[in-house]
Amino acid sequence: MSDNDISIAERKMQFLFALRSRGVTDKRVLEAMEKVDRGAFIRGIFADRAYEDMPLPIACGQTISQPSVVALMTQALDVQPRDKVLEVGTGSGYQAAVLSHLARRVYTVDRHPRLVREAKKVIDALGLVNVTTFAADGSFGLPDHAPFDRILVTAAAEDPPGPLLAQLKPGGIMVLPVGQSDHVQSLIRVRKTETGLDYDELRPVRFVPLVEGMGKD
Ligand code: SAH
Repeated sequence: MSDNDISIAERKMQFLFALRSRGVTDKRVLEAMEKVDRGAFIRGIFADRAYEDMPLPIACGQTISQPSVVALMTQALDVQPRDKVLEVGTGSGYQAAVLSHLARRVYTVDRHPRLVREAKKVIDALGLVNVTTFAADGSFGLPDHAPFDRILVTAAAEDPPGPLLAQLKPGGIMVLPVGQSDHVQSLIRVRKTETGLDYDELRPVRFVPLVEGMGKD
């Protein structure tokens, strides 16, 4: 083993250790996190910080979420191998790549066409053929592909958007941050039952806001 191999192996171990110490215990989620190289989704000066447990800037003034938050949200979503999953807020494509290892199909949508283009390039290069990307306002969901077993929103709305609740299958789960963008928000989980919706509050988080309409680039 060269010095370089050792440092990669060590970095990977530290990365997984950080996830476990933040409460990520689901083995399938840890395996999916191990499979996806976060470094592939980060360009420029921040690339060498890809394995640290912190959010980092990406294009269009957006951020790639902190790995432990990605893992905890994925764990809360309880994705099953046959599931069709919608992610709102593609950003770098990292979260979609993690989901692709757990679900049958992943549909991911972002309001910035540029982010969608760049994320698609990385996802295609990694050979993740079960991910489809869309440039659209995701607060309306993807009616042509609904309903979904799971929905993950990675931008904060004040309330869960109605169209997304409508596009969730009975028995389905949606995980999303809610609250005002310049405040601490709550990560919540919504379960759709035969009779209604069950909500539980998981933890405080901080996300960029869910914005209406398309982005300029
Ligand atoms: N999940 C991403 C990080 C998301 S950052 C990752 O793994 O890198 C939040 C993203 O939500 C941003 O890219 C932003 O453009 C997007 N977003 C905000 N409002 C949106 C909307 N209405 N529809 C679709 N995407 C939206």
